[in-house]
Order: sequence, then structure tokens, then C-alpha cells
Amino acid sequence: MTLPSRFVERTVAALGEQGRALCRALDAPAQVTSVRFNPYKTAERPEGDGVAWNRYGFYLDSRPQFTLDPAFWSGIYYVQEASSMFVEHLYRSAVGERQGARVLDLCAAPGGKTTLYASLVGLDGLVVANEVVRNRASVLADNVRKWGLGNVAVTCNDPVRLAEYREWFDVVAVDAPCSGEGMFRKAPESRGEWSEQGVMQCAARQRQILETIWPALKPGGVLIYSTCTFNREENERVLEDFVAGVEFDPVEIACPESWGVVRGEVNGVNTFRFYPGRIRGEGFFAAVLRKGEGRAHGKVPRARRELFASLSRVETAEAERWVAQPGQMAFSRIGDSVYGFYAGQAAAVRALAGSLAVIHSGVCMGPIFKGRLRPDQSLALFHDLRHDAAAETELDEQEAIAYLRHAECAPADRFAEGLNLVCHRGMPLGWAKRIGGRINNMLPPGWRIVKG
Ligand code: SAM
Repeated sequence: MTLPSRFVERTVAALGEQGRALCRALDAPAQVTSVRFNPYKTAERPEGDGVAWNRYGFYLDSRPQFTLDPAFWSGIYYVQEASSMFVEHLYRSAVGERQGARVLDLCAAPGGKTTLYASLVGLDGLVVANEVVRNRASVLADNVRKWGLGNVAVTCNDPVRLAEYREWFDVVAVDAPCSGEGMFRKAPESRGEWSEQGVMQCAARQRQILETIWPALKPGGVLIYSTCTFNREENERVLEDFVAGVEFDPVEIACPESWGVVRGEVNGVNTFRFYPGRIRGEGFFAAVLRKGEGRAHGKVPRARRELFASLSRVETAEAERWVAQPGQMAFSRIGDSVYGFYAGQAAAVRALAGSLAVIHSGVCMGPIFKGRLRPDQSLALFHDLRHDAAAETELDEQEAIAYLRHAECAPADRFAEGLNLVCHRGMPLGWAKRIGGRINNMLPPGWRIVKG
């Protein structure tokens, strides 16, 4: 499918020779594949180039079939477009290495940036990952469980509801729904969905999202706005209109020329454009600003319900047995399951659960039945699982793939009687139970390889 003619005309009119070069690059067959590693799960890195603006981002020489790689299922890496990893550079430049920040990732599914922010805020921090579309929120929650840090709460609400948490977040990230011009090379089918009218509709929605969520940011807090589109309507013009009505300070961001990123400035806000052909990645736009200083009031809406129940001493001891550093965690029952939260964020998650649709938070450990925990899949993928809480069974690559297909994977005598943590190269994939000569593969349906 060719590039939409109006897109080409508009891009050349806005960017001149750079626009022509951009359109040529979008039509070139170049394929860039990149992944971002989970620093809490592995120190391994592939051979090859690192992404300049992200410590954990790497380019791959070819695009493997990720779903056939056990490491993909154990949350060792996330397949993420390289340009969008730039938000790490913005975050670290604006917030520094301070751990414990509370970040709102407002438009979060499928979770590329959520998992990135989760790695940055540390285990004392909290990422509230919101996605307004329900089935996309479920995919987001699964990716968060797989990443396995236990410092994310996934909500499924309209931004208006998040805005009720007044001056509560240190960082608000709006990775806005957009017309997607930056994906024209990687996903050529998206060209057919583009229209000028769509651009204007997206811009109107982006303005509304920014205006709605601004009150949730603390004074002195950082707003990161991004899109994967090139046109000025959805980028600079949205920002121009937005900042005209708010108090903010610029944030200085170092950005070496060699990265190929095109820097800009709109009414004091620093902006960053990523053009295929100039950078190794797809199209992206990002901007950062700091809310004017003042005293933060940090109000949360009155709780409409209480979902968290306390555990007995015996139940707490059982929950503690499954994590490597139980002293850092607090445990509660929500519904039938026990959840673990890093102690520093337990109260914040409770404040969210009081009035929002929280569909995942902390680490879901599983129900306690007759004093014994029945471990959930999320616990297998939790980075701080205590591996010796259950017998550990190591599978080779082919066996691990068979396990992930929910097929027969290895003879029963390779497993211990009872519960087993199934691993490949030491990394957990899930649970299995041996009962005599039978192996019960406990992978839930959404965690299985279904094709390939
Ligand atoms: N941040 C994600 C990542 O890195 O994986 C990608 C987010 S995508 C660009 C934008 C998201 O915004 C979509 O998941 C979409 O469903 C959601 N969205 C759509 N309309 C919205 C609205 N009115 N308010 C907030 N989010 C919206």
C-alpha cells in the first residue's frame, strides 16, 4: 500500500527536504527489531548494538519468532520499538536516579512503557498503568505479570477518574492515542486507516486528555507527552494550546547530535522528533515539562469500598515463605487470593482500589487453602520468588517449548512428587504438579503458545 497522498503533501509542506527524505525512508524495506531487557531478571545481553538512549535496549540482527523463545515467556525481555525507549532518557534526565516515584502511565496498553517505567521507579516506587479499553487492559495486565516486578497497579478507567487523584503523581506519562504515521513503515496496513479528519480528531482528543489529567500531577512533577506520529497538529500544536493555560518550567535534556534526534522547542517545552532514515527506529515524538512549583496537596477520592482484608499470623507466615525478601513486603487478601505489595506502596494501592477499577496490582500469589498457598502463575514470574519454596525442575529448550504448548514435555520422573517450579536456564516459566506418573501442567490458558 502506498503512502496516503495527502500525508505526503502535508509532510513535505511541513518539513521540506526532510519530509521528502522521511517519505522515502517510510517506503524503504528496512526492518528494525529491538528488545529491552528486564534488569531485575537478567544481566545477560545479546551480541549487537545497544540503543543509544536506553541502558537496557538492544537491536537484533533479525526478527526471531519470539513466541517460541522461553525467555520471552519468562519476562526476561520485552519486544519494544527502539525510538519509544527514549522515554527512559527523558525520565532519568528529569527525575534522576531517585527511587520510589509514583508514576501514572495514562494510556498504557500493551505495556511497553509501563514495563520500562516499572524498571526505573525501583521497588519502592509505583507505576499506575491505566488503559481505558477493557480487552487491551487485560493484555497490559498479562504483560505486567510477566515482567514480574510487583510494583505496578493496572487500572481500566477513563482519565477523568484518574484525575480525581489530585496532585498525587510525581510523573504523568501520556503516550497518546494518535494517527500512527510513525508506524507506516513497520505496519504498512496502518496507512489505510489514516485520514486528515482522523488527525484532527486525534488532536482534539489529545488536548482533552492533557487538560483532564493535569490536576493529577504534583507541583514540581514531570509530564512526558509522546505520540508515534509526525504531524504538527498532534504534537507541537497540541502542546502550544495546552501550555498556554498552565504553569510550567522547561526541563533541560542532553541529547547528543550523534543520536540523530531532531530537537525542537515549543513555547518553552523541549521536544524530540524521531525520523526513520535519521535514527534506527520508527517514528516518534516526545516532549517533557515540569509543573510549576507549589505545595502539593495530594488528595485522593473518598474510598467507595474496602477490598483488602488482613491475613492471620499463620497465613502471613505461609505467604512469607514464598518470597526471597519477605521483610520488604506486606500481604493482603483480595477476593480469594493473597497479594503481596512492596511495603512502601501498599497504602497507595489501597487508595486506588478504593475507587478505581484495579484489575491487577502487586503480585498475585494465589489462594491459601487449608494453610497452604496454591501458587498463581504471577508468583512463578515474580522476580523475587523464593525458588526453594517448591522443587525446581529444569527443562531444556525443546522441553520448555513443549511445556509452554501445554503438551507432554518430559518424563514424570524428572519432576519431584507434588508441586514443581518449571524453569529453563534457571528462569521460571510456571508451575506443574506431579501425582505419581502423571504431570499436571498448571499453565493458565493465556500463558500458552497457541501457534508457531
Ligand atoms: N503506552 C503504550 C505502550 O508503550 O505500549 C501504547 C499506548 S497507545 C499509543 C495509546 C493507548 O491509548 C491505546 O491503548 C488506546 O486504547 C488508549 N486510548 C484510546 N482512547 C483513549 C482516551 N480517550 N484516553 C486515554 N487513553 C485512550
